[in-house]
Amino acid sequence: MASTEFCCAVDLGATNVRCAVLGRNGEISGFQRLEVSGIENASCITAKIVDMIESAVEETGVDIGAVGISTAGPVDLAHGSVVNSPNMQAGEIFLRDPIAEAFGVPVCMLTDCKAGAYGEYVFGGHGDASTLVYLTMSTGIGSGVISKGEILQGADGNAGEVGHFVVDTKYNMPCGCGGFGHWEAYASGSGMPRFFAEWLRQQGAEFEKPLLTSGQILFAARQGETLCSKFISEVAEINARGMHSLVCAYNPDCVVLDGPLAREYADLLIGDFGGYLRMPEVCVTELDGNAPLLGAGAYAFSSILEGNCRAL
Ligand SMILES: [Zn+2]
Repeated sequence: MASTEFCCAVDLGATNVRCAVLGRNGEISGFQRLEVSGIENASCITAKIVDMIESAVEETGVDIGAVGISTAGPVDLAHGSVVNSPNMQAGEIFLRDPIAEAFGVPVCMLTDCKAGAYGEYVFGGHGDASTLVYLTMSTGIGSGVISKGEILQGADGNAGEVGHFVVDTKYNMPCGCGGFGHWEAYASGSGMPRFFAEWLRQQGAEFEKPLLTSGQILFAARQGETLCSKFISEVAEINARGMHSLVCAYNPDCVVLDGPLAREYADLLIGDFGGYLRMPEVCVTELDGNAPLLGAGAYAFSSILEGNCRAL
C-alpha cells in the first residue's frame, strides 16, 4: 500500500533542480539542490533527478506514495517529457516513466507556472480564489491558472504562456521564441537589459554602464537614478498592458506575483492596468520561491493519492 502521508516533489528549472520530501501539510524535508545548467545530455539529467529523489527519501526515512514534478516548459504530457525547453539545451527530457520505474510509484508532472499556481492555491493562503492566476517574472514570464480548483492545462499542458502576449509594436523587441513585441522580451530578467539598451539607443541617451542586469536597473530606479527611473516607468506601462490582457483572458479574482523581480520590485514594476473588467486582488507570493515545489507535491497528493484531479 502506497504511503498517502508523503510524496516527493521535484522542481526542474533551467539552472537548478530542487527536490524534497513533502508531508500532507506542505512540510519540507530532505531538501536537495543541484545545478543542471550546461548539462546537455537529457538522460543524464533524468539520472541525476533519480539520484536526488533517492537521497531525499533515504535522508528522511519515509515511504513516498508518489512523485510530483514541476518543470520549465514546454512539456509533452502524453509522453511525460520536457520538450526542447528554450532555456535548457538538452532536447527531450523523459521524466515521468523513468522515475515511475525507478521508484515503483506514480509520477505526475506540470509546467512550473502551473505548479506555482497550485502551490499558491493549496499552501499560499489563496484557496478561496474562484480563479487564481500565478504570474512569474523571472528569466521568462509565464502564468498558471486555477479555476474552481482545477488547473487549466490546455491541449498539451502549455496553457498560460502569457510571456508571449504581444504588448508593444513601437520597439518591436525580438523574443526568444522567434516572435516580436512579446511581453518577456521587455520585462523578464533576460529581456529587460536588452530592452534597456534599445530604449537608450532610441532616446539617443548616453549611459555610463549600459550592460546592467535587470536587478541593477531596478535597484538604480529605486535609488532615483533619472534614466533608470524613466525606463522602469516605460516597463511598468508595458507590464500594465500584459496584466490587462491577462485579466481579460482569465477574469481572475486573484493574481499572485512571483519570481525574483516581482518579489522585490512589484511596486515599481506594474503600472495602472484597470479598465475593461473588474480588477482582481494583486499580491506578492509569501511562499519564498517554493510555490512550484510545493505545488508539484500538492498535485501529486491531489491527483494520484486522492484521485481528485481529472487531468493527469
Ligand atoms: Zn515570444
